[in-house]
Amino acid sequence: MANKTKSTVPGNLSMETELVLAGRDPFRHDGFVNTPIVRGSTVLSPTVADLEGHTGRYTYGRRGNPTVESLEAALTRIEGGAGVVLTPSGLSAVSIALLATLKAGEHLLMVDSAYQPTRRICDEVLPRYGIETTYYDPLVGGEIAGLIRPDTRAIFMESPGSQSFEIQDVPAIVAAAAAAAAHDITTLMDNTWATPLFFRPHDFGVDVSIQAGTKYLGGHSDLNIGTISANERTFRRVHLTHGDLGITVAPEDAFLAARGLRTMAVRLQHHQQSALAVARWLSGRPEVLRVLHPALPEHPGHALWKRDFKGASGLFSIILQPAPKPAVDAFLDALALFGLGYSWGGFESLAIPFDCGSYRTATRWNPGGPAIRLQIGLEDPADLIADLDSGFAALAASR
Ligand SMILES: *Cc1c(COP(=O)(O)O)cnc(C)c1O
Repeated sequence: MANKTKSTVPGNLSMETELVLAGRDPFRHDGFVNTPIVRGSTVLSPTVADLEGHTGRYTYGRRGNPTVESLEAALTRIEGGAGVVLTPSGLSAVSIALLATLKAGEHLLMVDSAYQPTRRICDEVLPRYGIETTYYDPLVGGEIAGLIRPDTRAIFMESPGSQSFEIQDVPAIVAAAAAAAAHDITTLMDNTWATPLFFRPHDFGVDVSIQAGTKYLGGHSDLNIGTISANERTFRRVHLTHGDLGITVAPEDAFLAARGLRTMAVRLQHHQQSALAVARWLSGRPEVLRVLHPALPEHPGHALWKRDFKGASGLFSIILQPAPKPAVDAFLDALALFGLGYSWGGFESLAIPFDCGSYRTATRWNPGGPAIRLQIGLEDPADLIADLDSGFAALAASR
């Protein structure tokens, strides 16, 4: 009889199968399927020789924990890099990745459509450590070469753009960074929207892949967590900085994220199909000026999305025909199934009004009407469409 405690898992598995298996080692835990939640700071050694020789698998809670390590191992397989570290939020994953890759006197190229709090790291934190940021147009493509200065050491991407959904030409940007070989530029990407299931940054030569695991990895709106995956070239720096700064993640949060990971493929398929159905319906509505969803053929980034991505997740935006704020508010207030709240990636649908115009600096945001971001959850899309329909009735009634 085969001994299931041995590592009999074959190579070359599909992503769906990896999601089920990765990071689990049941017979280390008496056969229980999931890695248990292990709480603890102190780890005891049986003898002084063991203590001083670090012979144990773990030395101290902050430096390694079975629950945390299991999720890191799983994500390393999913991302396809050299290693993963976990952080207490998506935003801290961004800040730690930047602190790990840049030092005083160096220059960062940051995409203008980045998640807004990422800009605050660049505008408020990095300057105190002598690091300067230039924002660039998300549509710059290979012309980013012209923005690389003698002191440029990092290029940060986020695709699609936060809220506005511009698709970046990641291969062209990575190629431009590689062509400036003397600069030794690190490329980083916030890949929260696609997740490694729909876009694997390392496969495109991106050095550092970041996820707000708060979103699709967790998937249930019940935790904040961040993940940084780094390739051979960058993992040592990321791992050291993460350890030196004393970053830890609670084992309960690592457990919840690992639990989310197991069902991520089926959830994302449902998010994808429902979001497309809702987006198509919205694009036929007279109240809607434009739908910003990269999987729709009319989206300006559609060709790049189709070339590089394996799918689209459940988040997109719409631009309404010009309407006064009270009418837009009436639309949002009338929605019964779409909650009004930040974040996304959970099982429930959400809507927020937004305006990128107040903070972008390298590009102009002139959408032509009020902008609303929608997260399509796991509800039946027919119910969501009916809900949006009643929202439009409220919009019409308030004018
Ligand atoms: C939400 C989000 C983050 C931050 O994640 P938190 O866990 O809320 O800190 C970072 N990047 C993107 C693209 C996000 O959507």
